[in-house]
Amino acid sequence: MTAVDPARRATRTTCPYCGVGCGVLATSDDRSGAAISGDPEHPANFGRLCSKGSALGETLGLEGRLLHPMIRCRNGRMERVAWTDALDHVAQRFRHIIARDGPNAVAFYLSGQLLTEDYYVANKLMKGFIGSANVDTNSRLCMASSVAGHRRAFGADTVPGCYEDLDEADLLVLTGSNAAWCHPVLFRRMIANKQRRGARMVVIDPRRTDTAEDADLFLGLKPGTDTALFSGLLVHLAGTGVLDRNYIERHTSGFEEALARARSIAGSVATTARATGLSEPDVAAFFRMFAETPRVVTLYSQGVNQSAQGTDKVNAILNCHLATGRIGRPGASPFSLTGQPNAMGGREVGGLANQLAAHMDFTPADIDRVRRFWKAPRIATQEGLKAVQMFEAIARGEIKALWVTGTNPAVSLPDADAARAALAKLELFVVSENVRSNDTVNAGAQVLLPAQAWGEKSGTVTNSERRISRQRGFLAPPGETRPDWWIVSEVARRLGFAAAFDFASEADVFREHAALSAFENGGRRDFDIGALQTVSNEAFDAMPPVQWPLRQSEAQPQQRFFADGGFFAGDRKARFVAPEIPALRTETSAGRPLRLNTGRIRDQWHTMTRSGVSPRLGQHLAEPFVEVHPQDANRFGVVDGGFARIATDYGQCVLKVVVSERQQRGMLFAPIHWSGETASAARVGALVAPFTDPLSGQPENKATPASIAPHEFVFRGFVLSRVQPVLPPQVWWTRVAVSGGYGCLFAGNADPADWSCWMQSVADGDLAEYWDFGGGVYRAACLAEDRIETCLFVGPARDAGDWDVPKQLFAADALTAEQGRMLLSGKSADGLANAGPIVCACFGVGRSTICDAIAAGATSAAAIGARLKAGTNCGSCLPELKRLIAQTHVELDQNRLARATN
Ligand code: SF4
Repeated sequence: MTAVDPARRATRTTCPYCGVGCGVLATSDDRSGAAISGDPEHPANFGRLCSKGSALGETLGLEGRLLHPMIRCRNGRMERVAWTDALDHVAQRFRHIIARDGPNAVAFYLSGQLLTEDYYVANKLMKGFIGSANVDTNSRLCMASSVAGHRRAFGADTVPGCYEDLDEADLLVLTGSNAAWCHPVLFRRMIANKQRRGARMVVIDPRRTDTAEDADLFLGLKPGTDTALFSGLLVHLAGTGVLDRNYIERHTSGFEEALARARSIAGSVATTARATGLSEPDVAAFFRMFAETPRVVTLYSQGVNQSAQGTDKVNAILNCHLATGRIGRPGASPFSLTGQPNAMGGREVGGLANQLAAHMDFTPADIDRVRRFWKAPRIATQEGLKAVQMFEAIARGEIKALWVTGTNPAVSLPDADAARAALAKLELFVVSENVRSNDTVNAGAQVLLPAQAWGEKSGTVTNSERRISRQRGFLAPPGETRPDWWIVSEVARRLGFAAAFDFASEADVFREHAALSAFENGGRRDFDIGALQTVSNEAFDAMPPVQWPLRQSEAQPQQRFFADGGFFAGDRKARFVAPEIPALRTETSAGRPLRLNTGRIRDQWHTMTRSGVSPRLGQHLAEPFVEVHPQDANRFGVVDGGFARIATDYGQCVLKVVVSERQQRGMLFAPIHWSGETASAARVGALVAPFTDPLSGQPENKATPASIAPHEFVFRGFVLSRVQPVLPPQVWWTRVAVSGGYGCLFAGNADPADWSCWMQSVADGDLAEYWDFGGGVYRAACLAEDRIETCLFVGPARDAGDWDVPKQLFAADALTAEQGRMLLSGKSADGLANAGPIVCACFGVGRSTICDAIAAGATSAAAIGARLKAGTNCGSCLPELKRLIAQTHVELDQNRLARATN
């Protein structure tokens, strides 16, 4: 494999979104777009990409990019400065605060989007040279409970299996994972196993997600009861004679205590059913399937990790695999699905406050070893503050300087309004970013440092199966943007550590990282890539994806761990962990009768700073919403398509209501992606309680007590604009990218006459207006040279007009005379169909078009694909197609019945 695919003349790189780590081929001559395809030779995806990866070419524009260093001046404005001035300023302020208040008065908050080389340099500076372990990362919000569970059970943060296990398993158990939306390429791989080999699938989730559409068994358990379910399973395995006694004896300790605790939590199928809210037959079926299937992989993700009992949940799962010896064998393993593209790289580096470096801890021996390797003058000797604690310390004024790199904590942390307010108290607040504006930058950043973005930067990332892949630049870095590792190194040099940060390239950093992993290792630590410590610049440039460990003494990487024991505790044995009796810290009350679950949607990523600029990705679910069970909707008076105010003890949001049987009674679901930049009242992180797991420090994002109430708006409408529109205050709005500009959906109580004033204030061209005074309708469009510059529709909430046809006309360079005449009718002059919300992002196929095809006889996803192409590229929409088929048939049957009865 080479850095460039010769046939396509495309650069080989890696997708910057989820932890699947798909290989990408990218070709681009300029910023207007890039040809993107999956790399057929990459072993994570073999050429496949999901909707997000496929749309990467739409995210490369420079609008909104931070291109130069900026410092906030005395007048409060950000002003461009030279790099040397910005770096001098950061170093001088850090030095002053450290000298005055000590090293624990400063902190770094990093990101699973950083490259391993960036992570390595930041971790080395803070822990080895500043002398504090206040380095944490947004990965704390993603997989910290898996790390803590692995370390308790295995003695190291080791993922035992690999993706090939998903091809070879006979049973795939997905718990707390909506893989169909969040890890789509891996999910298609599991579906391929089902189709090819007949593997069965069990999906365990309080919410019936798209992942459940393909399940042989769906277990809609009560929130927070995974520990009970897997405790019950352990008891069942012990009672049915499928334990691997030999494995338990030779390679583990603590089994009897763990089994005794499991018995006290869920001693039978009946008690498990009661504890989890599942039916006894369903529990029994799951236990039977697990017991009778040696090749079983249990995959878990944020539904398990993001919990105040997340580590215990992880260990309850690991216990079942250890007890049956189903670990590290082909088709048999527990498997943590990592959310972020390089959370694993951050873990390798030690970029979490409770790790030191290279899978070494804060033990005296490890501290001494790392100190000697780094020649560190002032190494941290104890754990630092984890993310939530870190922001609490900022709020208390204990941390006075913070450097945020490549993440948006003002949106993503729990109790996000409090986190945002804390940032304003900092004496020094530095942000390294790609964008000029986001909620974190706008929370009072004093220094902005322009970092290179995906497509420009170069280094490595590690995916969920421990595979290190190259991210390679294929675009010229714009403006004065620099790699993050360079920015941190320059500050380190100015702090007086030039010799230790004398890196000339990302390859230099990688070699040192690899050398540290092997330093005095001798097989005692799992993470060892010593074979790469002398890689040349040329070999690094051409480096193919490689799994770790890759020890110097071994020619081949190790694909799996622990089939024959060899754990990383001192006695080389695994530990069974007796989990605590599960109890939700988040009790509901009369005022907060529901539990709020938060999560992700198929076509957006994190706080949308990248995925939100793709028009294609904005079409699937354009508005922030809350999903409610029909009985709860009735009980609280909210209606499908209306608005609701969601309140918790921490904040409030106003969201669009989606009433759905897929949601469990007593639970609400809201996606996390919208920020103050993309919506007026949808910062869902602000609703989330800051309760954390006592071991992992990971916050409970899945069960905050909440209330819901209807929220009425008299008028609704939309704006399409070539420039980012600023809507009047008091208006509820959400913004998405559309082809040719920006689209805002809005709702409010302002009179249409006020909208006419607003339109006149922004119009820059010929303004055409339509009024229906009696009906409360106002529509207007501003055209310049037959192209729509701005278009506004507003009307009564029940009938505000659809934006599908105006959106298609807005995308055109020029309107025909007939199109111009028809524009304000919202109807098409030339047969442009109202396709409805987009289901297939790859081919832009809408729900209405798909439902019409189903009604006309397309009764399978394949038939829809043949007719409309929907679902034939990335496959991310296939579960939704299946759901639409089932739903449309029910509706058709109901209509037939109604006609027959009449
Ligand atoms: S599954 Fe999708 S988002 Fe994840 S790495 Fe692959 S293409 Fe990117």
